[in-house]
Amino acid sequence: MAKHSIVLIPGDGIGPEVTRAARRVLEAAGLSVEWVELPAGATAIEQGFDNVLPERTLAAIRAHKVALKGPVTTPIGKGFTSVNVQLRKKLNLYAAVRPVRNLPGVKTRFDGIDMVIVRENTEGLYSGIENEVVPGVVTSLKVASEVACTRIARYAFRYATKRGRKKITVFHKANIMKMSDGLFLNSARRIHEDEYPNIEYEETIIDAGCMKLVQKPENIDVLLMENLYGDVVSDLAAGLVGGLGVVPGSNIGDDAAVFEAVHGSAPDIAGKGVANPLALIMSGVMMLNHIHEEEIAKRIRTAYDRVLTEGKTLTRDLGGTVGTDAFADAVIAALT
Ligand code: NAD
Repeated sequence: MAKHSIVLIPGDGIGPEVTRAARRVLEAAGLSVEWVELPAGATAIEQGFDNVLPERTLAAIRAHKVALKGPVTTPIGKGFTSVNVQLRKKLNLYAAVRPVRNLPGVKTRFDGIDMVIVRENTEGLYSGIENEVVPGVVTSLKVASEVACTRIARYAFRYATKRGRKKITVFHKANIMKMSDGLFLNSARRIHEDEYPNIEYEETIIDAGCMKLVQKPENIDVLLMENLYGDVVSDLAAGLVGGLGVVPGSNIGDDAAVFEAVHGSAPDIAGKGVANPLALIMSGVMMLNHIHEEEIAKRIRTAYDRVLTEGKTLTRDLGGTVGTDAFADAVIAALT
């Protein structure tokens, strides 16, 4: 088997704990890999770098094309631009893909949830263009470009086609933001009509969409959104299937891909060894599929499904008592 070179970014808070666990599981399942471990976030500053996203880390992802990343802490209100925003913009990782599904053994209010959130990752209100117009009045600019709107719409339809998904729903607020959300909507509509008329397509104003999402989440198949809506709705959807500990994610561009859980650095539980590593392990499974190691991916998925179904070795967020390492050990023991 070819040896893969993969950039590993432990990150901050619970990041090092969950990346260590995910790395152990991937290796135990048979991944032949050379990890190129590099810092980002507060850790990078502690190590003497002058940016939360050091040029070395960025260059390594450009060179190796794939990274597995733990969460990083983003200071609120001042200081550095978020690592995640920088990564997505500098590497043009324009599509965030987040599968949200019920897991065996994880009891939730809803059954039958199996949706994929596709979030535009590079613009919207995350453009970081803010201005003080006059003292006491500030603006944040929401940017939408036809190129980015078309690119993400095409990505979502192509993804749906490849994965045998039937329907794309766009959440929007084009009734109010007629130009920016209007462009997003028109781009999706055009890709549907011109290129993928076989995929069912619907548009829902986001406020009503959120209500529908918690009334009948099983009706959602692929959910396409601009940046901020995608961010907020991802956490909402995570809550429907057991929380942030069980939702993986990927940030995909044409030249590189970064795989990471939806959750953040969880400072409230950092260093306690209790974080659930499953979301990052699942992100690792997405990464394995991306690098065409489907067999290893399947082995890991079967193993964690078995551990969850058994229900004896769950982390606290899923109602259990074990810690990060013990959960990873249980997944490794369940590998066949
Ligand atoms: P968070 O996702 O870190 O935590 C929210 C809640 O979920 C907390 O109660 C936390 O304990 C719990 N939680 C999160 N992950 C968990 C896990 N794996 N197992 C068990 N419980 C888990 O969100 P936050 O507190 O709003 O953000 C903390 C920091 O993380 C902020 O600096 C934020 O900017 C950053 N953040 C980073 C990323 C990323 O790097 N991709 C994503 C989101 C937030």
